[in-house]
Amino acid sequence: MLDVRNCRKCGKIFNYIGGAPICPACREKEEEDFQRVKKYLYENPGASLTQVSTELEISVEMIKRFLREGRLEIANDEGNLVLECENCGRSIKTGRFCPDCERNLASGFKSAASQMKLDLDSRSTSERKSLGLRYLNKEYEKGK
Ligand SMILES: [Zn+2]
Ligand SMILES: [Zn+2]
Repeated sequence: MLDVRNCRKCGKIFNYIGGAPICPACREKEEEDFQRVKKYLYENPGASLTQVSTELEISVEMIKRFLREGRLEIANDEGNLVLECENCGRSIKTGRFCPDCERNLASGFKSAASQMKLDLDSRSTSERKSLGLRYLNKEYEKGK
């Protein structure tokens, strides 16, 4: 099925295929920007976010997004409060959560899932029980 959306960057309508809602042209541009950032960081190791942003004329938000997506990593963490864990606010180098929260979230998801399964199990048992009771009642009536 066709999923047509407006590009988040240029507003153009395009055929959405998944991932960020960005049209192919903007996606290509973004990839170019990413390669430029990568190259710049390779040539200027430890460059600050603002430095990269002004030198390459790429928005800080864009670079942050690369970081959030885990495509870039902050090389030095001293005074580099660029990215915070979305859960606890601790300074992180890449991705969305600090390693601790990532671990907690992963196990949290797991226990939530097993809790859900437990609920389902207990529900189906009680449903079975009520079905059985009804059946017995019928038998009782029939025998009467
Ligand atoms: Zn676009
Ligand atoms: Zn955290």
